[in-house]
Amino acid sequence: MYELRNFSEVLVKKALEEYIPKSNIPCKCERCQADIMAFALNRLPPRYYVSLKGEVITGFESQMVPDKARILAEVVSAAQIVSACLSHSIGDE
Ligand SMILES: [Zn+2]
Repeated sequence: MYELRNFSEVLVKKALEEYIPKSNIPCKCERCQADIMAFALNRLPPRYYVSLKGEVITGFESQMVPDKARILAEVVSAAQIVSACLSHSIGDE
């Protein structure tokens, strides 16, 4: 019924969705996007909250973002790390 969610993960995902279309990373597949999220999330503090299963994030929660700039910076640097060292070869998804 209830589940733990990491709000940092939600924010990183949003930042990544905004960043990916503008970025020039060599591969934008699901695998690479997941790699970028993992890198960024390992460098950000987790922010767990309890949510009803399937509940969509509310406006109130999305206001609790003291460090949006930092999140975007971590996404950008994670994207650079991942594109410098792709975890698969190009054309091999
Ligand atoms: Zn890829």
